Amino acid sequence: MVLGLFKKHCPVCGQDVEKGKAVKRFGEYLCSEEHAEEYHKKLTKEESKDAGRGGRGGRGGCCG
Ligand SMILES: [Zn+2]
Repeated sequence: MVLGLFKKHCPVCGQDVEKGKAVKRFGEYLCSEEHAEEYHKKLTKEESKDAGRGGRGGRGGCCG
């Protein structure tokens, strides 16, 4: 294990994240608050997509 080595990439833009500036959200390090927000949006979007399928409350048309 190497201490002092910090190699992370922002999952939004892919650039190196500096330890001093890193924003940790949802177990990921992001380069800025802005991208933390962006990443959060991405996550919630995927979740809602997942909930949408098979969930009720959509526009009807159940039976085939
Ligand atoms: Zn970024």
